[in-house]
Amino acid sequence: MRKKIVAGNWKMNTTVAEGVELAKNIVAKLGEVPNDVNLIIAPPFTHLVSVGNVIKGTKIALSAQNCADEAKGAYTGEVAVSMLKDAGCAYTILGHSERRQYYGETSAKLVNKIKLALESGIKPIFCVGEKLEERNAGNHFKVVGTQLSEVLSEVTAEDMLNIVIAYEPVWAIGTGVTATSAQAQEIHAFIRKFVADKFGAEVAEETVILYGGSCKPSNAKELFACKDIDGGLIGGAALKADDFIGIAISY
Ligand code: PEP
Repeated sequence: MRKKIVAGNWKMNTTVAEGVELAKNIVAKLGEVPNDVNLIIAPPFTHLVSVGNVIKGTKIALSAQNCADEAKGAYTGEVAVSMLKDAGCAYTILGHSERRQYYGETSAKLVNKIKLALESGIKPIFCVGEKLEERNAGNHFKVVGTQLSEVLSEVTAEDMLNIVIAYEPVWAIGTGVTATSAQAQEIHAFIRKFVADKFGAEVAEETVILYGGSCKPSNAKELFACKDIDGGLIGGAALKADDFIGIAISY
C-alpha cells in the first residue's frame, strides 16, 4: 500500500506568530484525519523551529520549501539541507515552478539539491509540471518526461523510495483552475511508468505521486480517487486549517 500524503506549501505567507497559530489550529483538528493519511506542512524557513515545536509528537511532518545546492560555506543567503535537518525537517519541496520561474532553478541545480537532501536524510518532494502553452501545444508529456529524466538521472532505485513526486501543472497553480481528474490521472500514470521503466515496477508501486494546483476541499475527493494520485501538494488552501483538514479528510 502506497503512503497517502497531504502536504501544505505555505509559500511566503504568515508571520511566525500566525504560522504557529495555523499549526495549532491544524493540530487541534487532527482527530478528524483518517489514520492512513499523512500530513506535511512546509512553512517559511524562519518559522521552521517554532512551527516544528507545535507539531512535535503529532503525525504532521515538517518540510522546507527549498534548500541550497551546496552543502555549506560561503553562499550568502542560502540555507543548507543539513540546517533543515537540524531544524527538524523530514522533507523539503524542490523544483517548485515558482522557483523555476522566478529564481532560475535548473535541472542541474536540482540534481545537486536532491543528492544533498538524500545524503542528509531529508526526503525531497520533487515538483514537475508543464506551462499552459506547453499543454496547449500538446507537449505536456514531453516536458514532464524531460524534467524527470534530467533530475533523476543520478538517483538510484533505493534513493527513489525516499523521493515524493508532485505533479503541478503551472496553469493550475494559484489560478483556481484545477486539472480535471482525467488530465491529472493520465500524467500521474505516465510518471509512474517513467519510474517503473527507470527503477523497476516495485519501486514505481511504492512511489508517492501528489497532485498540486488549486486543490481544495470541493475537488480533492475526485482527484484522490484516481488510481495513481496519492494525495496533494496544497498551496492557497493550506493557509486555512479548515480547508487543509477538509482536503485531508477527502480521502
Ligand atoms: C503550489 O504552489 O504548490 C500549489 C499547489 O498552489 P495552489 O494550491 O494555491 O494552486
